[in-house]
Amino acid sequence: MSFNTDIKNELVNLRPSYCCKQSLIYGFLLFSRSFSIKKIVMQTENEQTANLYKSLLFEVYGADVTVKKGGGKRTTYVASVVSEADRLKILASVDFGIFEGKINSESFIKECCAKSFVRGAFLACGHITDPDKDYRVDFPIKEKKLAEEFCGLLKEYYIDAHISKRQSGYLLYIKRNEMIVNLLAIIGASARSLQLIETSIIKSVKNNTNRALNCDSANINKTVEASIKQRKAIEYLKENDIFLSLPEELIEAANLRTQYPEISLKELSKKSSEPISVSGLSHRFKRITDIAEEIKKRKS
Ligand SMILES: [Zn+2]
Repeated sequence: MSFNTDIKNELVNLRPSYCCKQSLIYGFLLFSRSFSIKKIVMQTENEQTANLYKSLLFEVYGADVTVKKGGGKRTTYVASVVSEADRLKILASVDFGIFEGKINSESFIKECCAKSFVRGAFLACGHITDPDKDYRVDFPIKEKKLAEEFCGLLKEYYIDAHISKRQSGYLLYIKRNEMIVNLLAIIGASARSLQLIETSIIKSVKNNTNRALNCDSANINKTVEASIKQRKAIEYLKENDIFLSLPEELIEAANLRTQYPEISLKELSKKSSEPISVSGLSHRFKRITDIAEEIKKRKS
């Protein structure tokens, strides 16, 4: 199985919260093959993705979706909304036609809903290359405006995407490994993010003799483990709407870690806009993880 299939299978099985369902299907709809009064169609090579699309459209809109298996060498699943009345209802609910190609981010109730939207977009058209070969995520998108809007949304999560013109439509792509790690974390593929970080660090160390001489693998593992722990705590605080009420210096440290998930504290301290020592930074992350732990305890 390809890495892409692995990740999609993992994402399809995440249960969206009640508030997120509409945003998840909204992402699916905008980034799928056809989204118009004549056709609302999503095509995928992943059967589970087609089934999720079908069940979400039924749950949210009561719409009937048929899934047809087809394709030559590669099996594809084509999921379509059958009746025009259903298509009208769906189009009206997302104001399509009025704001063509515009992402209505006001429809995201909470932070988690915006992330679910990105997950829907990835499931509908995204593709991630096997990390053994390259670091790359592609989103083929028809409308230029939509590609630009999506680029803007990703930037809010420190993800730099680029857009290139293709024969038909546009290609939005992400190439830097730390950006891909961020994307995977946002859409909920946590186990995969981890694997990607490890693969990428090992690869970059192998590619860089000087760094290989200075680093031993125990140190690399320590860096990775610490970073994952910190980012999990940050994620948790964001999901529980506590993040923005943290002291400013903690928010800054957290944003720095989110932007550079894979580097050591020493390297991270150099990236800080104001001077901070390694131990100072380490202390801030300890406070962040302590706060997250404390809240988890109180909730359980
Ligand atoms: Zn939500």
